[in-house]
Amino acid sequence: MADTPDLLIHGGTIIDPASGAERRADVLIRNGRIETIGDDIGAGSAERFDASGMYLSPGWLDMHVHLREPGYEHKETIETGCAAAAFGGFTGVACMPNTNPPIHTRDVVEFVIERAQRTAVDVYPIACVSKNREGKELTEMADLVDGGAVAFSDDGSPVQSGGLMRRALEYSSMLGRPIINHMEDLTLNPHGHMHEGEVATRLGVPGIPGLAEDVMIARDILLAEFTGGHVHVAHISTARGVELVREAKQRGINVTAEVCTHHFTLTDEAVDESDYSTDTKMHPPLRTAADVEAMKEGLRDGTIDVICTDHAPHATFEKDVEFIAAPFGILGLETAWALTARELIQPGILSIAEAVRKLTTEPRRILGIDQVEITEGAAANLTIFDASTKWTFERRHIHSKSRNTPFVGDEMVGKAHAIYNRGKLVRAAG
Ligand SMILES: [Zn+2]
Repeated sequence: MADTPDLLIHGGTIIDPASGAERRADVLIRNGRIETIGDDIGAGSAERFDASGMYLSPGWLDMHVHLREPGYEHKETIETGCAAAAFGGFTGVACMPNTNPPIHTRDVVEFVIERAQRTAVDVYPIACVSKNREGKELTEMADLVDGGAVAFSDDGSPVQSGGLMRRALEYSSMLGRPIINHMEDLTLNPHGHMHEGEVATRLGVPGIPGLAEDVMIARDILLAEFTGGHVHVAHISTARGVELVREAKQRGINVTAEVCTHHFTLTDEAVDESDYSTDTKMHPPLRTAADVEAMKEGLRDGTIDVICTDHAPHATFEKDVEFIAAPFGILGLETAWALTARELIQPGILSIAEAVRKLTTEPRRILGIDQVEITEGAAANLTIFDASTKWTFERRHIHSKSRNTPFVGDEMVGKAHAIYNRGKLVRAAG
């Protein structure tokens, strides 16, 4: 990092998500490390970043991202996905293993880490639970962790066999790593395309029942209790699921949960209102207003630990088809903070510190990644943001290789202005 230019971040407020403490101070970064934190530090030859009216926090980490490389580089590459992350204020992402080849052997774990070296964003591979994500035979979990995998998931292909899930939890707990399950009993959802309910009936679209998610969350809570393993609920979307996690936590079971930004923002009415836009089709699907309220309550009372995106790029030619033929998933990295600020902070559901904790401290704790602090001597890894800037999300703000987001044209509140990590400052232009 010897060639890294020095940087003075001037006039910002440093927020400590662990304690909620705020401190107005300048931060001087030299050679990628925080040298001094104090009042009115002179810039000298250092580049100056005016952070007046902005906050600085430890760099954010999105623990549910699809980077698509290797294998689906027409949707996203590690480089473009990291550019989207940097624009959105994230200095780290954990990436899902449904690539081709899947992240089910150590060489693929190492490939992903190696490809991310040039970017300003730390990439943490999540490896497969089962070989080829087929749900039959466990991967070489210890070897995958040695290579750098931080967790296990067959995301997109939920682990159907309770027996396999039991063994996965037994092994992963020995490694101190969570199993992240896409919670769905596929026999309860053979062919759905949106939330099963009033809107789906009205539109005549086959539904995905909330029950398919609830049943699997209940099973995995019981398996976590039995094995002592750590189950992490991927992209929770149902009110009943939140209740199950709340009860399990009260009983001391090792279960944690994340929610995607779209699941506390939109309901299944968006499918109708957008005239079947395939950018309202994701998995789990957008659900009801009562479910959205339950997501907010779960975030507020701590049942839901983490805010994530399930950033799922698809090429335009793939999404530009009939609703029923389209793949599931939307972009998330570029709009994550603005939706968090608009939907959770502005209405007073979370404080800024609480929201930031669900984007920094909590995902790192769950994944067993070292915490980041803004303190003298530490490697600089931080996000510069506010929760008040009004702006319109436009196509030019999309840094992903794909374009599949329902939020173009949305009035946003709150912006990530820049990240600093790995000796690099990345400003979110515009
Ligand atoms: Zn999933």
